[in-house]
Amino acid sequence: MEKTRVVVVGGGVAGCMMAKGLQDHCDVYLIDPKEYFEIAWTEMRATVEPSFAERTLINHSEYLSKAHIITSAATNITESEVTTADGRCIVYDYLVIATGHAGGPEFTRAEKLHKYQGEHNKIKAAKSVLVVGGGPSGVELASEIVFAFPDKKVTLVHKGPRLVEFIGEKAGKKALNWLISKKVEVILGQSVDLESGSNGVYHTSGGETIHADCHYLCIGKPLASSWLRETCVRDSLDAHGRLMVDNKFRVKGHNNIFAIGDITDVPEIKQGYLAQGHAAVVAKNVKLLMKGQSENKLATYKPASAFALVSLGKKEGVAKVMCLTLSGRIPGMLKSGDLFVGPARKNLGLKPN
Ligand SMILES: Cc1cc2nc3c(=O)[nH]c(=O)nc-3n(C[C@H](O)[C@H](O)[C@H](O)COP(=O)(O)OP(=O)(O)OC[C@H]3O[C@@H](n4cnc5c(N)ncnc54)[C@H](O)[C@@H]3O)c2cc1C
Repeated sequence: MEKTRVVVVGGGVAGCMMAKGLQDHCDVYLIDPKEYFEIAWTEMRATVEPSFAERTLINHSEYLSKAHIITSAATNITESEVTTADGRCIVYDYLVIATGHAGGPEFTRAEKLHKYQGEHNKIKAAKSVLVVGGGPSGVELASEIVFAFPDKKVTLVHKGPRLVEFIGEKAGKKALNWLISKKVEVILGQSVDLESGSNGVYHTSGGETIHADCHYLCIGKPLASSWLRETCVRDSLDAHGRLMVDNKFRVKGHNNIFAIGDITDVPEIKQGYLAQGHAAVVAKNVKLLMKGQSENKLATYKPASAFALVSLGKKEGVAKVMCLTLSGRIPGMLKSGDLFVGPARKNLGLKPN
């Protein structure tokens, strides 16, 4: 008898947990343009400290012993098959879309390690660094730089009225005070035209001049859903480009197509640990469907309440837990030392170190 075939598109934290969770039970195909999985929230530390990436860049083949790995981007889907950029066509019984955000142009682990080494060298050689964007990426990058290189002049420009807006006003103030205490110059309510910057001189929309030897644009990566606009799920994309799913993660209007992770419209803060929870529910449901279980036996998911952490260097952080905002060493102990790398590796069956 032919095995059930499950195709997982996207090898981020959601997709790789999905493929790992099903590889012993059916014929699994993981499609990702990169040869490796990267623990996405560690990019800022790896930019400053490239050796950190040795544990956070994991070749898909390291944790997927049985699944088929297709190193290419998915370009189209129909009700029964997925097409890839390199011209392959893979038939599926169940499809799981987990394409959160597009990765960079580095397709191999070695290329990504090389990129981080180059960024590190650039920061090390610079006297001053400009960070544009005051969301979690910008705040974490600025704090990693001043933590590792306290003598660098770091300027952070954010066009919004406060930092890390996604976790609330108090958290924004705490992050701001931390950065100011480390002598980071924070400019709020202004933007920078990076194109017009030359010879290390940049101008803000408020008429300020910033001198910086290098700059980083940290304005958040766009969702990787534009490739779905001409596919069979096009009518299930919402106005933000997210896939609308039911409480079993099935894409609206499609019984055998699921979506998990940041690409979904689940009303909760987008977090990797929640994306792993999505994968667990879908793995369970696919196994039940394979056994011929009826609809009412399938597991359902309830959106999680707010819990998010932003690291501030290696020892401190700021956290939102329900309606409570915490800052300093306690959130730092939870995230900032190892950025949850050990648990993320263990979830894939790998040694934490
Ligand atoms: C600064 C920052 C800090 C964070 N801190 C935390 C934290 O402490 N804890 C936490 O749990 N979460 C944290 N997050 C959130 C977390 O990073 C995301 O929620 C998580 O990465 C989402 O996982 P995903 O698998 O849905 O998508 P992604 O991680 O974005 O992965 C998407 C994958 O899809 C692939 N892909 C894209 N397009 C295609 C295509 N056409 N075909 C095939 N593959 C494709 C990409 O290559 C990539 O591998 C943080 C985020 C940021 C920005």
